[in-house]
Amino acid sequence: MSEYTPLSELGEFGLIKKIKEKFELRNESSVKGIGDDAAVLEPQEKQLVVSSDMLLEGVHFDLTFCPLKHLGYKAVAVNVSDIAAMNAKPTQITVNIGVGARYTVEAIEELYEGVRLACESYNVDLVGGDTTSSRAGLVISVTAIGEVAKGEAVLRSGAKVNDLVCVTGDLGAAYLGLQVLEREKQAFIANPEMQPELENKQYIVGRQLRPEARMDVIYELKELGIKPTAMIDISDGLASELMHICSQSGVGATVYKDNLPADSQMLETAVEFNLDPITCIMNGGEDYELLFTIPLADHEKVKNHPDITIIGKITEASEGVNLANKHGQAFPLKAQGWSHF
Ligand SMILES: [Mg+2]
Repeated sequence: MSEYTPLSELGEFGLIKKIKEKFELRNESSVKGIGDDAAVLEPQEKQLVVSSDMLLEGVHFDLTFCPLKHLGYKAVAVNVSDIAAMNAKPTQITVNIGVGARYTVEAIEELYEGVRLACESYNVDLVGGDTTSSRAGLVISVTAIGEVAKGEAVLRSGAKVNDLVCVTGDLGAAYLGLQVLEREKQAFIANPEMQPELENKQYIVGRQLRPEARMDVIYELKELGIKPTAMIDISDGLASELMHICSQSGVGATVYKDNLPADSQMLETAVEFNLDPITCIMNGGEDYELLFTIPLADHEKVKNHPDITIIGKITEASEGVNLANKHGQAFPLKAQGWSHF
């Protein structure tokens, strides 16, 4: 075991120094990053948006199938996704971790390598954080800061009657990826000799282990001259996110079953697990795609966009939130979402 360094050997300051060396500052607004009592930021004429998320071992992730590098990446991506959902550009993050004594320096470096990769792909700066010991498994908490021009932030509350309801990417895959990983874990517990069967499951498993925030779509909407009227990221499932937009905007909505974007691997796997693919799409969660509404007048601009699907329309509040089939029958939506309590 001599190739691994216990955390105690390096100490907290040594660890911070090691982490700091691997991160560079990219944003103008990051004046001072890691290495002082606090970071110094200078947002020029911009409004700041701030979002925090905490991931707990055994609740939000399972280290038997989630590599530390992916976990570091995902912890950043899910926070960046919230910044994207505000129509803002992420600029800085802080990362706090609580680790048990059994962790080695190499394991923590692996986690931060994921954080670093995410910082690189979303162009954000790691400007601070804390490392502390935990007696209850690994805890990772990220705070993301973003910038948006005054008046450009998109809230959940701006959807108007007749707006189009749009989503990015495809839905339900992350949930089915988790089902596959859980199944393989059980098979491994029953027989440790067993090799995981992940053939034809790479896409959905990747969606679970390494989600991406849709910053690309935020930049594209800007280029298309579209400002969504309301927006939210899909962490808990389409149904509950749509209900958040509707209740905060004081409107109703109808989404069409046949319009819901699904990947073929997701559909095949749903059948394999005897799950209704529509339920996986509506209530699966963790897809980290964006759900947003746009004025009807912007229809032409998005109708052929490969990453955006129009799934329905905003209606009067009195009509409720419904899922309609091709025969025009509408069924009121139920939000299940994830409950960690
Ligand atoms: Mg969110």
